[in-house]
Amino acid sequence: MTEFTTPSDVARESLKRLAMDRVAPTPDNYRAYYHRIAGTRHEDSFPAQTFRGIAAQLPRTSPAQQRFARRFDEAIGKQNWDTLRAALAELAAATDTPDIAWAPLIQQIIEQMDRHHAAFTKARKKESLKHVLDSASSAAPILHERLSKLIKHWAAGADDDAPDGIDAVTDAVAPATDAPTPPSAVSDTAVPPALSEAVDELFHRGVGALLADAPELQTRAAAFGKRFNPWPARVDHPLLLADLHELILKLEWTGEDQSGIRRALIALLQLLIDNISKLVIDDQWLSGQLSVVSQAFSQPLDIRVLDEVERRLRDVIDQQGRLKQELTDAQLRLKQMLAGFVDRLADMSQSAGSFHDNLERSSARIAQAKDISELSNVIEEMLRDTRVAQEDARRSRDDLTSLQRQVEQANVEISKLQSELQHTSELVRHDALTGALNRKGIDEALEREISRAQRRGTPLCVGLLDIDNFKRINDTHGHHTGDAALQHLADIIRANLRPQDSLGRYGGEEFVIVLPDTDAENAVATLTRLQRALTNRYFLAEGQKLLITFSAGVARLDADETAATALNRADKAMYRAKRAGKNRVMMA
Ligand code: GH3
Ligand code: MG
Ligand code: MG
Repeated sequence: MTEFTTPSDVARESLKRLAMDRVAPTPDNYRAYYHRIAGTRHEDSFPAQTFRGIAAQLPRTSPAQQRFARRFDEAIGKQNWDTLRAALAELAAATDTPDIAWAPLIQQIIEQMDRHHAAFTKARKKESLKHVLDSASSAAPILHERLSKLIKHWAAGADDDAPDGIDAVTDAVAPATDAPTPPSAVSDTAVPPALSEAVDELFHRGVGALLADAPELQTRAAAFGKRFNPWPARVDHPLLLADLHELILKLEWTGEDQSGIRRALIALLQLLIDNISKLVIDDQWLSGQLSVVSQAFSQPLDIRVLDEVERRLRDVIDQQGRLKQELTDAQLRLKQMLAGFVDRLADMSQSAGSFHDNLERSSARIAQAKDISELSNVIEEMLRDTRVAQEDARRSRDDLTSLQRQVEQANVEISKLQSELQHTSELVRHDALTGALNRKGIDEALEREISRAQRRGTPLCVGLLDIDNFKRINDTHGHHTGDAALQHLADIIRANLRPQDSLGRYGGEEFVIVLPDTDAENAVATLTRLQRALTNRYFLAEGQKLLITFSAGVARLDADETAATALNRADKAMYRAKRAGKNRVMMA
C-alpha cells in the first residue's frame, strides 16, 4: 500500500523525488514517477473529453447497444482503462455471432403459413408463431432455432393433396385451437387399461412434476395424458402426431427457459455471496458459513447437497446466535467495569485534591500560628487528614486491584467466546484438515442415504479405507507431511467421485465413502479406480515422490441393515485386505 492517498499527495511527492533524483521533469518522467509512487499501472492518460464525444455518437437503440453505451459511459465516468477494455472485448465477442440466414427462414414461414396442414388451422399456426416470438429469449440464434423447429413441425403435418384455400373454411368452422380435422388415417387399437393409466400418469404426474413453474403447460400436458385414459377406440394419427409435436416443442422451450432462469439465479446468488463475503472480511464466523453455501453452488445442484447445507447452516446459525449474545453481554459487562474504573480514578483524584487543599490550609495556619497550642491543633488536624488520605488511597488501591482482576477475567471470557465462535464455523467446514465430512457428518449422510435407498429400492454401498503404513510416513517425514498426505488423499478421492457420493474422515487415517445407487461390483470398481488415481498422482514430500496406498473394505447394505453393522462389516473386510498384503479392496 502506498502512504500517499490523494492524487495531489502523489503528485507532490513525484515532483519532490524528480528533484531529489535530479531527473528532468518531462511529462513522461513525471508520469513514470507518479505511477510508481501511487502503485498504479503506467498507462496513457485517459482522454475523457475525446471519449465523451465518441459516446455522444454511439447508437443506443437495441438493448445490446444500450448495454455497451452504458459500459462506455461508466468507463469514462471512472476514467478507467480496464472498464473500457472489458467493454470493448465484450462488444467484439458479441459481434462474432455467426451470420443467421433469416431470409430463407422468413420465406419458409410465409410458405408454411399459406400451405394447408391437416392438423393446423391458420389461427393455430399464428398462435404458435406468436408464442415463439413472445418467448423469453431475445437472443437471435435461439429465436432462429425455435422458428426453424416450428416450421419443420408444421411441414411434418402438411397435407399436400388438399387444395389451397381450405384453411379459410377450416378456420371459419373451427375457431377452437384443438379443432379436429377430418381423419385421414384412423385405426382401431386394443390397449390394456394399465397402459392407458400409465400414459395418463406420465403426463399428469411425471411431466407435470417438472412443470410446477409453468401451470398452463402443466394443465395442457395433463389434458393430453387424459386423452389416452381410456384409450380412444379410434385414433386420428395425424392429429395426435401434430399435438404431440406441439407439446414436445413447448416442453423443450419451457425446459430451456427454466434452465436459463436457474443459471441466472445461481449466478445471482453467487454474486450475492461474493459480495457479502467481501463485506464481512472481519466477521470470520460468517465467512465459514458463506464458503459452504458458495461451495454448494459451485457444483451441479443436487438436493442432497442443498439439504446438507441447509441443515448445517441452521445448526451453526443457532449456536452462533447464542454465542454472539453471550459475547455481547460479556463486552457490555467489561464496558461497565471500565466505567467504574474511571469513576474510581476520579474519586481518587478528588480526595487527593481535598487532602492537598487541607494541607495548604494547614500550612497557612502554621505560618500564622502565634503559640504552641494553636500549632498542636493544626498538627493534630494534619495527622487526621493524612490518616484519612492514607485510608482513602489504600481503599482505592484495593478497589482498583479487584477491578483489574475482573477486567482480566472478562477479557479471558471474551477471547474464549470468540474462539468458540470461530470453532462453530469450522463445524460447518466438516473436517478442518481434509475438508471431508467429519464423523458426525458422514454418519448423518449415511442415515440419509439409507432411508433414501430403502424408499426407492436402490442399492447402496459403503466403503471404508485405511492408509497403508501411514505411521511410517509420519515417522520418516514428520507429522506435517503426514497431514499433507491426508489432504492429498482426500483431494484425489473427491476429484474421482460423483457429486452424489460422500467422503468422510472417520478417524486418523481412515475414510468412509458412501456410494448411493451403486451395486457391490461397481463399488469395488470405484474403490479400485481411486487406488489407480492415487498411484497416477504422486504425493510430493520435500520434492520426493511418495506412493500412498490404502486398503479398503466394501459393504453393500442389506435391506433394513443399520449403518453401524454395515460399517462394521466393511471394517472387517478392510482388515482382511490388510492381512492379505494391503493395497487392495475386499468385499464384505
Ligand atoms: P496399517 O497399514 O496397518 O494401517 O499401518 P499404519 O501405520 O497406517 O497404521 P497405524 O494404525 O499403526 O498408524 C496410523 C497412524 O496414523 C498413527 C497416527 O500417528 C497417525 N495419524 C492419525 N491421525 C493423524 C493425523 O491427523 N495426522 C498425521 N500426520 N498422522 C495421523
Ligand atoms: Mg488405522
Ligand atoms: Mg493405516
